[in-house]
Amino acid sequence: MSPLEGAQRAASQGPPEASSQVDPQASPPAAVEAVDVRRSYRVGSGQVDALRGVSVSIRPGDYVALIGPSGSGKSTLMHLLGLLDRPTSGQVLVAGRDTRTLDDDGLAELRNRTIGFVFQAFQLLARTTAVDNVALPLIYRGAGRRERRDRAVAALEAVGLGHRLDHRPAQLSGGEQQRVAIARALVGEPSLLLADEPTGNLDSVTGAEVMATLERLNRERGVAVMLVTHDRDVAARAGRQIRMRDGLVVDPATAAPVAWGPDS
Ligand code: ADP
Repeated sequence: MSPLEGAQRAASQGPPEASSQVDPQASPPAAVEAVDVRRSYRVGSGQVDALRGVSVSIRPGDYVALIGPSGSGKSTLMHLLGLLDRPTSGQVLVAGRDTRTLDDDGLAELRNRTIGFVFQAFQLLARTTAVDNVALPLIYRGAGRRERRDRAVAALEAVGLGHRLDHRPAQLSGGEQQRVAIARALVGEPSLLLADEPTGNLDSVTGAEVMATLERLNRERGVAVMLVTHDRDVAARAGRQIRMRDGLVVDPATAAPVAWGPDS
């Protein structure tokens, strides 16, 4: 089932409390949605309010850049949307499902099924071939060896690396390593891909190749993409920008201009 079909199927099931009134014409629920989320960290005897009431919605097929100065709360928000952390208050919904009711195992299971992650530092296993790196997430789903390999090969072909199956990370260029990481994020057919500075370790030409890969997958497969970036060109290519400052989403219409730069 493709991510889009998954989202549509989830939509057709509707939220449980409204199942008798489902409108077949209604648009599918957000791939992920945060409703008035706050996240505070205890530090010594004090407290840091990293998110101070943020609401965002990433729809199926969206392509969103999350931007803002260092320390504004981007990573904290990504972690909440990726179900790697829980808000201090507020709600995170995945395909319309309230995640507050899930225990840690339930959260991990939902994350594994619906969300793929791409990191700045690739995070591939060094002594493992591309195809085995990509197949890894499928082990946690209980897929058999043959199925794991077939799906990993298909994911590598989808990112243009069908000819690099048995290369280890050190035998690949930086851009190729990041495309292996994208294939690994995609192999479970997530409805949402979260990318934290995916081009941060790459030169501009290679970074552009990686962005083209992400854009094509978004366009052709309908997988929603949200990426954190400090790169103005990368942000400009996204369909939408969400700008943060001091733990809040800034309204683009009223925000003061953002000073772009290495720390913006
Ligand atoms: P960004 O990704 O925009 O740079 P972060 O989400 O990493 O911002 O951080 C937001 C704020 O929360 C910062 O002031 C940061 O120092 C603080 N913070 C982030 N993670 C922690 C943590 N685990 N413990 C304490 N403070 C944290």
